[in-house]
Amino acid sequence: MGLKTPFTAREIKGRAHALGFSHCGITGADESPAARERFIAWLDAGHHAGLSYLERNIDKRFNPSLLLEGATTAIVLARRYGDADLARQNRSGIAMYAWGEDYHTALRRRAEPLLALLQSADPSSRSRFFTDTAPLSERSLAVKGGMGWIGSNGMLIIPGLGSMVSLSVILTTIILPPDPPFTHNHCGTCTLCAEACPTEAILTGGLIDAGKCIAYHTNSSSSPIPENIAEKMECQVYGCDICQQVCPWNEPQNIRDSVTGGITFPEGWPQRIESWASIDALGFQKLFNGSALEHTGFSRLKYQAGLVAE
Ligand code: SF4
Ligand code: SF4
Repeated sequence: MGLKTPFTAREIKGRAHALGFSHCGITGADESPAARERFIAWLDAGHHAGLSYLERNIDKRFNPSLLLEGATTAIVLARRYGDADLARQNRSGIAMYAWGEDYHTALRRRAEPLLALLQSADPSSRSRFFTDTAPLSERSLAVKGGMGWIGSNGMLIIPGLGSMVSLSVILTTIILPPDPPFTHNHCGTCTLCAEACPTEAILTGGLIDAGKCIAYHTNSSSSPIPENIAEKMECQVYGCDICQQVCPWNEPQNIRDSVTGGITFPEGWPQRIESWASIDALGFQKLFNGSALEHTGFSRLKYQAGLVAE
């Protein structure tokens, strides 16, 4: 049984905005059977590039209450990190979501006061923060929490914010009224992302073939990048956002974000692919300390930069 709170959902959302989250949706922490089925079909089709961790904990991934005993509510937090215009101008080879401080750290820091607020509202409550840190489908919770829909490129698209958002979730035992789910898919007849993807990784229905996706090969894999993918890596050293650059929902004129300030390229980072050639191990450590690129490491990034420069 969950615990009631003196706060309203509106107050929680107001506090989330004040902490720098562009959008906040609230939903139940119960099971999402439809999203689970979709995910299993994707796994069964072998589109997960052999990532065995995705085959585990499927129940938890689509039933958040299994990640925190007694959880009744999921508070989904989105922070915008870019737009199509900025991404198209980017010549660094580093996708925008990796610019600056590692988003795991940055989002957790922003969410800490919200966790403290929940705790002070009800000292007997329990809450837990997640951002890619546990098997949890943040995107399906965001749809269930009324924030947006899963676009054909597999990304959550939030009207007025686009898809260039980092997501995190607070599960809590505190009961908050849920937002109505987002039920419409606004992609319509658009096929721009599938046409733009250099490796034809975009399948139908918002599903991605991870084995063909440059983002997977440059962020998550430690295996050599297959030749047929490497030859299509136009300028992606780390990550890929080509399918987001072409999405009309990411065009600056369609973005109404009153929270996120100006987004700038981190000072000192290589602004062009060619600059990677002069970065040594020490320089890499100094530049990328505390960023997502640090986890990928110097050798792997030099390898990836070398493939693009060839
Ligand atoms: S991230 Fe890049 S490779 Fe992956 S689906 Fe999008 S455009 Fe294609
Ligand atoms: S580019 Fe078009 S089809 Fe692809 S996600 Fe955006 S709106 Fe949907």
